[in-house]
Amino acid sequence: MANLKITGAEKYYDNFHALKDVSIDVKDGEFLVLVGPSGCGKSTLLRMIAGLEGFSGGTLHIGDRDVTDEAPKKRDIAMVFQNYALYPHMKVGRNMGFPLEISKVDKAVREKKVADAAEILGLGKLLDRYPRQLSGGQRQRVAMGRAIVRDPAVFLFDEPLSNLDAQLRVEMRAEIKSLHQRLGATIVYVTHDQVEAMTMADRIAVMRGGVVEQLGTPMELYDSPANTFVASFIGSPPMNLVPGKVSAEGAGYVFRADGGGEITLDSVPAAAATGAPVLLGARPETMQIGETGLDAKVTLVEPMGSETLVLCDHGGTKVQVLLRDRRTIRAGDTLKIAPEAQAPVFFDADTGAALT
Ligand code: ATP
Repeated sequence: MANLKITGAEKYYDNFHALKDVSIDVKDGEFLVLVGPSGCGKSTLLRMIAGLEGFSGGTLHIGDRDVTDEAPKKRDIAMVFQNYALYPHMKVGRNMGFPLEISKVDKAVREKKVADAAEILGLGKLLDRYPRQLSGGQRQRVAMGRAIVRDPAVFLFDEPLSNLDAQLRVEMRAEIKSLHQRLGATIVYVTHDQVEAMTMADRIAVMRGGVVEQLGTPMELYDSPANTFVASFIGSPPMNLVPGKVSAEGAGYVFRADGGGEITLDSVPAAAATGAPVLLGARPETMQIGETGLDAKVTLVEPMGSETLVLCDHGGTKVQVLLRDRRTIRAGDTLKIAPEAQAPVFFDADTGAALT
């Protein structure tokens, strides 16, 4: 295995600037997820790592090797595609061993590696079937098996679960994660699904418009988003973003919401307390109903069993509260809601950048 270093990567498709100065260092054995909305450039970056697209600028290193201009075959990388790319006329065993067959690896060695990978993936009994005789999850496993037999320095996954139904996706998510733990493999994984990113990644790179907006652990992104885009993209339901202004009062601070109501705070970041317009960011599960806080009118109540999601209108801004206790709240109720004492973060109302 090896680390992978992307430095100043640029990609132009004719005049279209698809990737802008992207630098990411993936550690040896790390599970890195590239996530972002459609068109943000995540697949382009993965294809550049695989060697299926050239670099318009910047470099790629695997370990100490500069592989920026290396052919895909020489990069020591294996890619698992969204559509699995299995050969329909070959049985599972041959599908898995095929990369080794092309590389003219000795038959006995090949069979041993296929048997080992099949063991790891629980495919032992399926080696004599054809792909059409497998379920979606099994096909996905065969595609992973074909990557494993090559024992590559780096694994690349391109939305591998997007063709599976919701339940199977959750199962395969856990399976890929535990596979990563067993193999200690360096993985770069592309998805547009923030839940997949949160649950699987050691670190996540959130991309938008060809730029990495933030790179960090799932909890760093969740607790301290670099800007309102990351705050809204990571977490479901998303972080509440409430416009208002902060002023110092007495020993503490007061956030006065444009939509009505106020929140007293013990401390705020210095840059948030200038009196300039800010957005207060608070996760729905940190919001509490009380005597003081933001004015909110309940628009919808969604019971989910263990939790209840309360959607409110706060002066034209949607604010969501995730309650863990059971109480009767109805559409039309007026409430005061406020985040737990240390919970909120602040963003510049104009640029959306986090204030620290
Ligand atoms: P998705 O989740 O929809 O696959 P993505 O984040 O993977 O999106 P990319 O496929 O990397 O996005 O594409 C990034 C941008 O580059 C898009 O605006 C896309 O239209 C453009 N693009 C991708 N491939 C080409 C190409 N071969 N020629 C021209 N433009 C391209």
